[in-house]
Amino acid sequence: MSSNTLVETPAGSVNQRGWSNWSGAVQFTPKQYTRPDSLAALQAVVRNTAAAGRRLRVSGSGHSFVPLVATDDQLLSLDQLSGIESCADGQATIWAGTQLRPLGGMLEQRGYSMLNLGDINVQALAGAVATGTHGTGAALGSISSQVLGLTLVLPGGETVECSATQEPELFAAARVALGSLGVMAKITVKLEKAYRLKLSKQAMDLDECLARAPQFAADYRHFEFYWCPHTRRTLVKLMNPTEEPESNRGLTTFTELVLENGALDLLSRISRANPNWAPAMSKVIAWSAGADESHMVASSHRAFSTLRMVRFNEMEYELPAPDGADALRELAEFVDKKRILVHFPVEYRYVAADDIWLSPFYRRDAVAISVHQYKGMDYAPYFRGAEAIFRNHGGRPHWGKMHTLTAKELAPLYPQWDAFHALRRRIDPQGVFVNPYLRTLFGD
Ligand SMILES: Cc1cc2nc3c(=O)[nH]c(=O)nc-3n(C[C@H](O)[C@H](O)[C@H](O)COP(=O)(O)OP(=O)(O)OC[C@H]3O[C@@H](n4cnc5c(N)ncnc54)[C@H](O)[C@@H]3O)c2cc1C
Repeated sequence: MSSNTLVETPAGSVNQRGWSNWSGAVQFTPKQYTRPDSLAALQAVVRNTAAAGRRLRVSGSGHSFVPLVATDDQLLSLDQLSGIESCADGQATIWAGTQLRPLGGMLEQRGYSMLNLGDINVQALAGAVATGTHGTGAALGSISSQVLGLTLVLPGGETVECSATQEPELFAAARVALGSLGVMAKITVKLEKAYRLKLSKQAMDLDECLARAPQFAADYRHFEFYWCPHTRRTLVKLMNPTEEPESNRGLTTFTELVLENGALDLLSRISRANPNWAPAMSKVIAWSAGADESHMVASSHRAFSTLRMVRFNEMEYELPAPDGADALRELAEFVDKKRILVHFPVEYRYVAADDIWLSPFYRRDAVAISVHQYKGMDYAPYFRGAEAIFRNHGGRPHWGKMHTLTAKELAPLYPQWDAFHALRRRIDPQGVFVNPYLRTLFGD
């Protein structure tokens, strides 16, 4: 199947051509691919791989843009370790390989919802937790911050439980550890009673949007916006809980599938064939973003997620919240001045601080700014310029997305950097869970 059709090919699993991530930028062939179907089988494969002096990585759904999962040795998928083990009293213990999409429905049947989710729901729960995946909401932390407890499998094959009261240091480190502190087998998350969200979308001028952003962030449980490069146009998305009944979801899916993804696919192909037309394509997107003001009511897990069928590469930085507006203004100026050939909208979201050692939100309320480039188009000049702006504002990169930082630049961004790596070396002295990409991040 060609890479630019609208049909999504499976990412994060191995077939005759090896393993590929969602964007297609990361491809490799592991020596061995194992899908344990019980905790005992998972423990055995970790124990045997480590005892043989070999390396092991775990794949979620392959939706990271960087080679976190890449290995030429043992690759594990936990897709058979999936489902809810228990759910009561506002929390659930969930097998780590559970995909977020079915999880939403399973929790709803039990009267519960996740507190917040990102804008897709195809990740494995453990994959989302391991990288600090987040949605938007000034008072809401990342998915990792919703975790109350973990069951980890360590190199010897033994399990360890950690939470705020049991092995608290391990808990502070292991919620965002990129698969370097053991394999998560089960994850206990905090839940909220099932709720519906009312979504409103409206177009707005960039300056007005940035001026009103603090108030939107305070008034709405979820506020984000997309800015169309080479224009002053934004599309604002606001969501609050509601008692209103669910609106017609089928119509929305049709709109997303055919109008949003279909049109974006067409404009993207035109841009890729004629990169000089990308700014004009962005203007078309900006114009169509303002075409209607729409509203929708859906159960929370459906309201959060959107269909992303047009493939792209992405960089995202998490900036101190007060710096977000200036950074976006500088990005707009850079895009105009350098006539950057991009048509994909830039996403601007809010994430609350947490206390997880390697979380990009460690002790800092953040604005997350994401820049995207269509698959097959040159992203280097755009991402390089954006990264310089974000770094100048003290930004920390999203662990699952593209950036150029190595241990030297990362260490000063994380007050608990040394504590994390001391703990990691104690748990995994042989580096069983470390691959070449992690070595550049960690400086091993
Ligand atoms: C279209 C698209 C939209 C996205 N939207 C958002 C968004 O809204 N917000 C956001 O923050 N991010 C977003 N992302 C990024 C994405 O959420 C993260 O990269 C996430 O980590 C992907 O989850 P995954 O299950 O595919 O994990 P993978 O990419 O397969 O793996 C990610 C990491 O998790 C580790 N891992 C997986 N399973 C385990 C386990 N059982 N134990 C230990 N480690 C494990 C892997 O080793 C790896 O280090 C998006 C990505 C794409 C492609």
